[in-house]
Amino acid sequence: MTNKVYCYHCMTYHHRETMRKMMTRSGVRWRCIRSIEATRGSLEERDAFGEQQSELNRAQARAYQESVMPGRRLATLSC
Ligand SMILES: [Zn+2]
Repeated sequence: MTNKVYCYHCMTYHHRETMRKMMTRSGVRWRCIRSIEATRGSLEERDAFGEQQSELNRAQARAYQESVMPGRRLATLSC
């Protein structure tokens, strides 16, 4: 029983080897690696996708502005 730690995410006990200490507002808590990676994986994918999209949008807007009205892009993009 001593090698089992309570996982606040799953609200159950896992083996200590599958757990990581997490700093939360209420102190140190244990959470299983599987749930951490599941959350982090989806977050990172979403962030990377969002950044990629906005960068693409900026590049496209810049290219469009330069093609339509060269010389005026600074004024029109200064918002
Ligand atoms: Zn867990």
